[in-house]
Amino acid sequence: MNKRFQDENLVLSSFYQEVWVVCPSCAKKAIAKVTYETKTARLFCTNCGYNKETATEIKNGTINTAANFYFNAELWLKAPFKNEMFWAYNHKHLAYLERYISATLREHKDRTHFTLLEKLPKFYHEAKNREALLKIIAKLKSN
Ligand SMILES: [Zn+2]
Repeated sequence: MNKRFQDENLVLSSFYQEVWVVCPSCAKKAIAKVTYETKTARLFCTNCGYNKETATEIKNGTINTAANFYFNAELWLKAPFKNEMFWAYNHKHLAYLERYISATLREHKDRTHFTLLEKLPKFYHEAKNREALLKIIAKLKSN
């Protein structure tokens, strides 16, 4: 049986607002969140209590991007794959990639050029990498 994947046409920015990061204080998992309405971003760690808030405004205005950016924080969900890096912003992003990679039959709706899946590097799409990538995902999920 082929597993079907329904492209939800998600874009990377769907996952910007909550990003799992490496805590700058204790190096365990922390969470960076950004609220564009209030132009604030927060990084907090339930492990060590690290808690920092910052404004999303930079010199030339405001940029709306992934929450980790405002803290220059390293992503928690990442793993080297050959000469590339596999990464995800958070568990939902990881689950989305997992659904895509594990599907043997990939259905695409009418897509723009800006969907997350189309922007992925080639190695994500190659069937020969499927098993290895799913192992990486399983490992990241257990972290
Ligand atoms: Zn911490």
